[in-house]
Amino acid sequence: MAERAQDTQVDVIVCGAGPAGVFALRELHRAGLRAICLEARQRIGGRIHTVRSVSQRHPTELGAEFIHGKDAVTWKYINEFGLETQEFPSGKAHVDGALNVDHSQQCMAALHAMAISASKSGKGDTPLKEFLRSPEVTVLLDQSHLTRRQLQQLLKNDLSAPLGQLSVQSLVDVQTDGYQSNHRIVGGYGELIRRAAEGLDIRTGCPVRRIVWEPQNIDVFTAREKFHARYAVITLPVGVLQARDVAFDPALPKDFLDALHALDPGRAVKSAMVFRRNEKGKAFWPDDVPQIITPMKTQLYWRSDWGEPQSRGAFSVNNLTAGLDAEYFDDEESPVDRMDILLRQLGHIFGRSLGKMRSMLKVGKQVAWHNDQYAKTGYSTLRAEGDPAARKVLGTPIHNTLFFAGEATRCSEEDVASVHGAIDSGLITAQRILACEKVESAA
Ligand SMILES: Cc1cc2nc3c(=O)[nH]c(=O)nc-3n(C[C@H](O)[C@H](O)[C@H](O)COP(=O)(O)OP(=O)(O)OC[C@H]3O[C@@H](n4cnc5c(N)ncnc54)[C@H](O)[C@@H]3O)c2cc1C
Repeated sequence: MAERAQDTQVDVIVCGAGPAGVFALRELHRAGLRAICLEARQRIGGRIHTVRSVSQRHPTELGAEFIHGKDAVTWKYINEFGLETQEFPSGKAHVDGALNVDHSQQCMAALHAMAISASKSGKGDTPLKEFLRSPEVTVLLDQSHLTRRQLQQLLKNDLSAPLGQLSVQSLVDVQTDGYQSNHRIVGGYGELIRRAAEGLDIRTGCPVRRIVWEPQNIDVFTAREKFHARYAVITLPVGVLQARDVAFDPALPKDFLDALHALDPGRAVKSAMVFRRNEKGKAFWPDDVPQIITPMKTQLYWRSDWGEPQSRGAFSVNNLTAGLDAEYFDDEESPVDRMDILLRQLGHIFGRSLGKMRSMLKVGKQVAWHNDQYAKTGYSTLRAEGDPAARKVLGTPIHNTLFFAGEATRCSEEDVASVHGAIDSGLITAQRILACEKVESAA
């Protein structure tokens, strides 16, 4: 369709209304700048996607679910908005067919510390798979009562990239606060975004197509409109940027593009299921088991109704399958066949046939984020050959005009590949723009 110019003039255009975009916009708006956000989807939140259509009893997270750690910036807003949270326990887990005390969080935290010290002693480029076979890791596994396979499953889940393409540095690069604690927002993660977005000018259903720019002078084109500003905050996921879904004119600098391709966008399939209990109110999944780690492709299941008053009729289970295993779902053509993968593997764990599992499933929903048009990303990971400074390059403003933010960027020391890292990057970016404004008005 031909572009018809209907120029809207503002100070800042934010592209993308995920956590990074919404919190950047909020900060800019509160400081008195004219700022709008253009969002491709018909909803806000990005990879935070809370729905009410799966369970009638509680919100369901089809994207991000947990606040990782106790120091996340998210807590500031949880308190400000008065949102209720609930801790997900790190106690028992069903591991390889047996109910065990779960040491996985401590193990992952120790592994991360070992990776940091290996990196400091110049071994950051050691292939991750080789590092996982090292004697120190073997000792750690023995102490943690985990097998190497289980550890690999957890790493795939955490990193969302093929382990064979990663190095020790890839592990150093990610946030690890989730190894301390994980909390869920009782009213849904979407509430955080909804409250933050109150009173802001966010235009949904507006995919950005082209950005024409020169210092302090930007035109952003959607299919029907043209927007003009002095600054742009671009929070598009790394997979969308790598696919060049948005054209930049002139093209982005080479060091930026190199940094972009130093990251693997990752693959992640998130599934939510509600199962019927039997006529005696019993669930095939014991009510005192919060999560399951399986050596099969589907990696990690957990009770998403944990801590809720138990219903006698039904119970809820979520699954996250990430990394190359997520592509296993891509081989199936229909949503029913993709759901059957989970039912078959969960049925295998609990000794139930596929037919029985199907008969107990009330509702099942799934999102393959790496195939989603406006994500094309699970969560980003530094590739083995990637420059460790890549995220910093991505978070460095271009001519104080184009400001990239979001989970893949590192604008200061914030945690990447997480909601709180994305929020932080949005806040820091907004502050940088405000600093530019001060300098300009002082000049
Ligand atoms: C399955 C899954 C589970 C996760 N679990 C957790 C978790 O438990 N805890 C945690 O902290 N993190 C989790 N994450 C990571 C977290 O969701 C992301 O780090 C975070 O959402 C990134 O925020 P963002 O604003 O950078 O990007 P996004 O949330 O992806 O937002 C980017 C926005 O840009 C929009 N967009 C794309 N193209 C265009 C275009 N052309 N024009 C305009 N807009 C466009 C998108 O629609 C989207 O709204 C998970 C991610 C996935 C996929």
